[in-house]
Amino acid sequence: MKKLVIASRNENKILEIKEALSGLSLEIIGQSEVAKDLEVIEDADTLEGNADLKAKALSTISPNTFVLGDDTGLFVKALDGAPGVLSARYAGQAHNDEKNKMKLLKEMEGLSNRQAYFETVFVLYDPFGQKSILTGHCNGTIALEEVGDSGFGYDPIFIPEGYSTSFAEMDIKEKNQISHRGNALKALRQYFETYGVL
Ligand code: IMP
Repeated sequence: MKKLVIASRNENKILEIKEALSGLSLEIIGQSEVAKDLEVIEDADTLEGNADLKAKALSTISPNTFVLGDDTGLFVKALDGAPGVLSARYAGQAHNDEKNKMKLLKEMEGLSNRQAYFETVFVLYDPFGQKSILTGHCNGTIALEEVGDSGFGYDPIFIPEGYSTSFAEMDIKEKNQISHRGNALKALRQYFETYGVL
């Protein structure tokens, strides 16, 4: 069976990836299982750059496997695209979901234009080191306050377009059907099917 290593320690992210790729003959494992102490400094100025830094660092440690780097950003129109590529470090260097959400709600106090979108960029290395880039997008709005307690990151304050519930009120399957990462994962599933991993 082919192996896919996810360059992330975010268990929620890994669960979303596993759900969307279920049924393929692929063993999916998280970074902590192959490189417990690996720390990647995500200092590129694009999502693709950061996804590549994560994937490349891990593919040197885990050669001859598929390696996937995911970088995601939340882009808010009224804030000129912030937090964007800095979404993980919006409230400071220490990656803190709670502080990031609070800061965003505070910056948006009194703003009536709440349009935003999530963008995910996947950088995938195949077992021969061949690189592919896949992306996913999801439009929505920023809620006035947190709603729901599933998911992670900005999920409780993001309401996808066409819905009245936040991502944090959805289970993984529902979120994957419409989310930025879910859309990138549909492309990834197609990639594996074309590659012959069925
Ligand atoms: P990274 O891609 O893991 O570096 O995440 C960047 C930032 O976006 C972090 O603050 C994450 O918590 C947040 N984030 C990434 N994906 C999602 C998502 O699917 N929903 C909500 N927040 C997310």
